[in-house]
Amino acid sequence: MSSSINRELNPTILPRSDSGCQTRDWKQALRQAITETDDLLDALGLDRDRLPPLDPDPRPFGLRVPRAFVALMRPGDPDDPLLRQVLPLARERVVVPGFSADPVDDAAADQGDGLLMKYHGRALLIATGACALHCRHCFRRHYPHAAAETGQTRLRAALARLAADRSVNEVILSGGDPLMLDDDRLDALIDGLEAIGQLRRVRLHTRMPVVLPARITEALCARLARGRLETVVVIHANHANELGEAAAAALARLRETGAMLLNQAVLLRGVNDNVSAQCALSERLLGCGVLPYYLHQLDRVQGGAHFQVDDAEARALIATLRARLPGYLVPRLVRERPGAVAKLPLAVGDEI
Ligand SMILES: *Cc1c(COP(=O)(O)O)cnc(C)c1O
Ligand code: SF4
Repeated sequence: MSSSINRELNPTILPRSDSGCQTRDWKQALRQAITETDDLLDALGLDRDRLPPLDPDPRPFGLRVPRAFVALMRPGDPDDPLLRQVLPLARERVVVPGFSADPVDDAAADQGDGLLMKYHGRALLIATGACALHCRHCFRRHYPHAAAETGQTRLRAALARLAADRSVNEVILSGGDPLMLDDDRLDALIDGLEAIGQLRRVRLHTRMPVVLPARITEALCARLARGRLETVVVIHANHANELGEAAAAALARLRETGAMLLNQAVLLRGVNDNVSAQCALSERLLGCGVLPYYLHQLDRVQGGAHFQVDDAEARALIATLRARLPGYLVPRLVRERPGAVAKLPLAVGDEI
C-alpha cells in the first residue's frame, strides 16, 4: 500500500506540468482573497445594519479571507461562525485591561532569528509572518509581520543555532503560516532541517488545508512523503463548517504522505463555545482523518477580548464533551502561560 502511494507521489514520475498548474492555482486563489469588507458583505448578501459596528480601517491586520472559505459561510447569516472569525469589528479597538499585544511573550523568546525555544526538545520557527486568512482572535495579530519574513540570513542563523543545540529533536514550522512559503523555499528549509542529525521530527502548524486547500499540492505531498524526518501536521479548524469537501480532500492527500494529522482550535465565544459545535467539530475532524489535539483558552491578545470564554465555562464544556465522546475525540483544554514548561491543562478531571 504505502509503496504504491509513494510511487504515485514520487516527484520524478509526477508530470512537471501538473505541479506547475497546481502551484498557479493556489497562488491565484491567494491573490483573489477578499480584503474589502464591502466585498465580503456583498458576497454574503448581508447589510451592515444587521451587524455590530465594523472597523472602518482594520489595517495593518486587515480583512483577509480566501473565496473558498467564504463559500462555506451561510449567506445572509450575521452570526455565521466562520464570518465571526474574519470580520473586523470596531470593538477590537477598545483597550481591555489584561489584554496585550504579545500575550505569550514571544518577543522575549525570540533571539532575533525567528526561532522560539520555550519547551524542552522543541523549537518553533517563525517561517513567515504571512497567512492566507486573518483570524481576528490571532495571538500573533500584532506581530511585526513585515519584519518576520524569514530571509536567508535569518534562516541560516536559525539553522546554525539548531545544529549546535543537541537538546532539540523536533522543529515546528509556524508563523504566520509556513505553507505560505512556496515549494522551493519550503524544500530548502526542510533540506536544511534534514541535514541536522539530531532532529527526528518536523511539525507544521498550518491553517492552509482548511482555508486554502489548493495549497496541498501533489508536489508538496511528495516532498513531505520522501523526507527523512517524521512529519506531524497540526491544522487549525475551530468549527465543523470550516471542513468542506475541498479541505477533506486536501487532508486525505496529506494523510497519504504518512504524516500524523492533529487539530488545534481556539475556544471562541459565539463560534464554538457550546457542546454541539465541539462535538460536530471532533466528529468532522475524525471523518477527515484528524484527531483533536488542543483546545486553547484564548491568549489575551488586544482586540480579541470579545471572544473570551471564562475558565469555569470552558471546564464545564470539556466535562460534558468527556461524557459524550470517545476519549480520543476530546481535545486537551490548555492555556499558555509565559515562562511555564508546557501548555498548561485547565481541566484536570475533578469537575466530572
Ligand atoms: C505551543 C508551542 C510549542 C508546541 O507545544 P506542544 O505542547 O509540543 O504542542 C513549541 N514551542 C513554542 C514556542 C510554542 O509556543
Ligand atoms: S492562521 Fe494562525 S497565525 Fe494566521 S492569522 Fe490565523 S491564528 Fe494567526
